[in-house]
Parts: sequence; C-alpha cells; structure tokens
Amino acid sequence: MVEIPLTKQQAEMLIRIEAKLLDPPPPSDYIDRVPEKHRLENTKTYMFTHHKDKCAGQYCVIHNMSDHSMRNFPQQFRYDRYLMERICPHGIGHPDPDDPKASDRYESIHGCDGCCAGA
Ligand SMILES: [Zn+2]
Ligand SMILES: [Zn+2]
Ligand SMILES: [Zn+2]
Repeated sequence: MVEIPLTKQQAEMLIRIEAKLLDPPPPSDYIDRVPEKHRLENTKTYMFTHHKDKCAGQYCVIHNMSDHSMRNFPQQFRYDRYLMERICPHGIGHPDPDDPKASDRYESIHGCDGCCAGA
C-alpha cells in the first residue's frame, strides 16, 4: 500500500466522499478511524495514511513491514514520486521494499550506491 500524502483536512474530506459511496455503508465510527497518523520509521516525521484495515494481509510500508535489510534506515516519503524511500547512511534514497513501486522496473529507478542490495 502506498501512503496518502494529504493534510488532515484533505484526508477527512476524501474519507467522507468515500464513505458515501460505500455499499453497504461503513460503520458510524469509520470517519473517526481514518485517517491514521503514523510516525515514519526511524524518523520524527508524521504523516496521515490509510487505515490499517485497507492493507490487511499485505506488506505495507506503515503497518506491516517485511524483515528487509534497510529497516534501520529512516523512511522518507517522496511526494513528487508517491514513493516511500529509505535513506542510507550516505544520504541516498532507496525505494522501500514494502512499497509496491519498489518492484517496478521503472518506478524503482534511483541513483543507487548499493545499500539496498539484498533488501
Ligand atoms: Zn497499511
Ligand atoms: Zn549508502
Ligand atoms: Zn538502492
């Protein structure tokens, strides 16, 4: 699952629209449960994301990280590419292996120094 890089107001508006379209209607606490605020791993940065119900059972850069080799690196969300990255100690951003784009040949192109090898 990819993050929803929105302000809280934008996220709440989208969720209200989405809730109206759902059939059957979602539980009344649906709007309160989403969005969730999460701290990116190894950072002090918070962002609003999808609710954990949405990615249940899949690897997720927020809710269900796999045991990959870059778990110690801080996460950084690239709003320009809609891609979660892990910043290695040399300052290079590598696609987070739990972002579906990381397995896409085009989307995963980055200036790599080899630190994501084996992830
Ligand atoms: Zn998730
Ligand atoms: Zn590196
Ligand atoms: Zn890399």
